[in-house]
Amino acid sequence: MVASSPASTAASTAEAFAARLAAIRGRMTAAARAAGRDPAGVILTAVSKTQPDEAIDTALASGLRVFGENRVQEAQARWTDRRPVLPDLELRLIGPLQSNKAEDAVALFDVIETLDRPKLVGALASASQKIGRSPRLLVQVNTGEEAQKAGVAPRDADALIAAARAAGLIVEGLMAIPPADEEPILHFALLARIAERNGLKVMSMGMSADFEAAIRLGATHVRIGSALFGERNPGFTSFSL
Ligand SMILES: *Cc1c(COP(=O)(O)O)cnc(C)c1O
Repeated sequence: MVASSPASTAASTAEAFAARLAAIRGRMTAAARAAGRDPAGVILTAVSKTQPDEAIDTALASGLRVFGENRVQEAQARWTDRRPVLPDLELRLIGPLQSNKAEDAVALFDVIETLDRPKLVGALASASQKIGRSPRLLVQVNTGEEAQKAGVAPRDADALIAAARAAGLIVEGLMAIPPADEEPILHFALLARIAERNGLKVMSMGMSADFEAAIRLGATHVRIGSALFGERNPGFTSFSL
């Protein structure tokens, strides 16, 4: 049967991916317009963590260039060889960063979205100096103050931003992952207030389930995994640590 040959399976996978991508882009545009925003002001970060190589290649073939990864080593394995032939690639670290991986992260990523504690300010500053590369940074805010989740507490965010700036780091915005069981809008609004009072323009918020609400509340980057690539490996928990 023609439909089961490897080539046509690849083609149908690419078609399915293209259809999901088009649907997401359509919803992003509609959400931006409904909020009176320019759709070009909202960037899709494709969350490629745990995806197989073929899915990455399909995403690249579809023109996507902004990717979010949540583990430094997984991202190194996946992107080190691809990077040199993709000059417009933008890699964003969206998972927790340990201080001892700061140098690897600074060497690989264009944006690190998970600056969330003073110790990391020091580690990133010295890594940037040593490697001669300065990724842009977002401060991750734990808007729901969940014990198991990374991110600085909302009341400590201003001080962390100030400390990072004082250390010469480039803080360009904020990132948040609202609690799974709460109305995300309140959390997006809180993040927007913290960004506003710190003069920050970039807000990475909104995932597969809530990106339209995030766009209404001012998201400049939405991080979308499962709605784009399909469901991930079910045993995988992305936010632990
Ligand atoms: C996995 C992940 C996402 C994507 O989640 P989906 O619900 O699959 O869109 C977004 N942000 C972070 C930080 C993640 O770890």
